[in-house]
Amino acid sequence: MATLTRTIDPVCDMEVDPETAIAVEYEGTKYYFCELVCAETFRDEPKRWAPPEHQHPA
Ligand SMILES: [Zn+2]
Repeated sequence: MATLTRTIDPVCDMEVDPETAIAVEYEGTKYYFCELVCAETFRDEPKRWAPPEHQHPA
C-alpha cells in the first residue's frame, strides 16, 4: 500500500520523502530537504524559505 506522505522541499521545490529527507525544525514546524545543501540554505534564512503559515490562494 502506498501510504507514503510526500512533502515539498521549500528551497528547491522538489518532492521529498520525509523518511529519508533531512528534517529541520523551524518555529515548531518541520521542513524536509532533499539534501544537506538545501537544509543549510534554509537554516541561513528560514524566513525567506518557510512558506507563509496561513496561505489563502486566490
Ligand atoms: Zn532540495
